[in-house]
Amino acid sequence: MFEKLSERLNGVLDKLTKRGQLGEADVDEALREVRVALLEADVALPVVKDFVAAVRAEAVGERVVKSVTPGQMVIKIVHDELVKVLKPANDAGGVAGAGLDLNHPAPVPILMLGLQGSGKTTSTAKIARRLAEKQGKKVLMASLDTRRPAAQQQLAILGEQTGIKTLPIVPGEPPVAIAKRAMNAGRLEGYDVVMLDTAGRLAIDDELMAELAQVRDAVKPHESLLVADAMTGQDAVNTAKHFQDKIGITGIMLTRIDGDARGGAALSMRAVTGRPIKLLGTGEKLDQLEDFHADRVAGRILG
Ligand code: GDP
Repeated sequence: MFEKLSERLNGVLDKLTKRGQLGEADVDEALREVRVALLEADVALPVVKDFVAAVRAEAVGERVVKSVTPGQMVIKIVHDELVKVLKPANDAGGVAGAGLDLNHPAPVPILMLGLQGSGKTTSTAKIARRLAEKQGKKVLMASLDTRRPAAQQQLAILGEQTGIKTLPIVPGEPPVAIAKRAMNAGRLEGYDVVMLDTAGRLAIDDELMAELAQVRDAVKPHESLLVADAMTGQDAVNTAKHFQDKIGITGIMLTRIDGDARGGAALSMRAVTGRPIKLLGTGEKLDQLEDFHADRVAGRILG
């Protein structure tokens, strides 16, 4: 679908193989291609601008190593810079930990946040299943989505499919009360982790944010994961910024990475929130959950 960035850059830069150094004009010509590639990969414009400025600072004056063409040189600089931005500060996680920090007295409260349709409920079940199977954790899931009638049922069904316990549904109970009841059950019944699947909306809305802030204050989550659809592209920045400012997030799970999206949302969200991408959703099935690898996503963004 897209012409590869490497091919484009080789086309633009091949003529200067002999000069031995990247001059400003060469770099700027190359960066125009990089900019287009990043926008095509759905990285948000302000993030593209900052990123390109950082790459420019790295690339100008860079000696062109004999064995590589200038195009490859620029690709490498862009790739390395992408990895640098995308990589979590402490690179924590690994398969067993599902990228999550569980270093907290049990039951560890994990808040799942995100817009409606982002894949929040599915991701809640995926993570719970993985914590149970790979780490032997006893996990309780609870849906705080009282707005959408089928939401609590949906989580209960996923619980049955995965063998993960869900908090019994009490009709009419408000979200904060459900969250508190889940934490109490977690304590009394010896759970290691309590996963709270919050309500979503089709767009950011103040009423929802106020409700989520109340839940946050009531349970003091150790992890607050923003679940976001990799296909959201330019909107990703707004969503991530809002959740970060109003609720505070500890990390991001990017879903539908199995689709056509080039994953630019990963870079945008990482850049605007400063929080790491911790996990990737790679399909509808409950075992389609992967750790985030900065180099793989960087390669995908570059195309
Ligand atoms: P919620 O409204 O945020 O709770 O979203 P759901 O968990 O109900 O997911 C909405 C739809 O997206 C469902 O059909 C899921 O099966 C699907 N879905 C969730 N995660 C992924 C993913 O990583 N890849 C794909 N292809 N579909 C997903």
